[in-house]
Amino acid sequence: MNKGKKLYEGKAKIVYDTNDKDLVIQHFKDDTTAFNALKKASIEGKGVLNNRISEYLLSSLGQCGIQTHLVRRLNMREQLIKKAEIVPIEFIVRNIAAGSLSKRLGISEGTTLEKPLLEYYFKNDALGDPIITKEHIYAFEWATEKEIKVIDKMSLRINDILQGMFRSVGIKLVDFKIEYGRVWNKNKEANEIILADEISPDTCRLWDMKTDKKLDKDRFRKDLGNIIEAYQEVARRLGIMPEETNFSEVNFGKMRSIKFKKR
Ligand code: C5P
Repeated sequence: MNKGKKLYEGKAKIVYDTNDKDLVIQHFKDDTTAFNALKKASIEGKGVLNNRISEYLLSSLGQCGIQTHLVRRLNMREQLIKKAEIVPIEFIVRNIAAGSLSKRLGISEGTTLEKPLLEYYFKNDALGDPIITKEHIYAFEWATEKEIKVIDKMSLRINDILQGMFRSVGIKLVDFKIEYGRVWNKNKEANEIILADEISPDTCRLWDMKTDKKLDKDRFRKDLGNIIEAYQEVARRLGIMPEETNFSEVNFGKMRSIKFKKR
């Protein structure tokens, strides 16, 4: 597989072309941002961990019948993925109130929700990714009713699977963000919806079952420190970074250092 030119660079990932028109390479950076990129840092080793954790979670979902963009992990920072037309919506699933839900509606952080709550946000940095309703999605043709019906069902199934996976290693899946893409099926007759992007401690809220310790990006957002250690803890508990891992071998570098970028 030959890596071609850079197609797109986002806040945490870069996408490269390949010599196969249906496939691209997704590269995980160490860069992290919060509050619509007002807060920025580079956290050494984060990209390596997210690449590995996301590969593990997406391939596990694949084994449970969820169609995803993942083809295979290529190296420490890169995955081969299917080229998809990304639906311009961030799909959020919440099990426990936290973050913007608590802030916007005054629901105390930690309140368990009776059933999973699905939310939709328009993917638009300039507008700060505003929350939207299904009516906006249909009115502006960001996705069809048929697609949203499929996506809602997939999101709830993904939530069930991930909740079970995390619960079994002593972690509460508080909420998460997922994205979907459209790919043409083999006969080029219709497009299919597949899970795209990543699922990692950057895109989920993960709390220790016993202590409610945050093991996710909130450690960066809220200046709680030990960000890499928390992401490593998630990987270790999922069994993808055994205790005896030689960190120097996987080139995490100086894992404690956080380089804050000038604005
Ligand atoms: O900030 P908020 O509470 O709406 O975030 C809900 C979930 O979605 C969190 O797990 C957060 O990490 C994730 N998220 C994300 N990317 C965004 C917005 C939220 O991964 N742009």
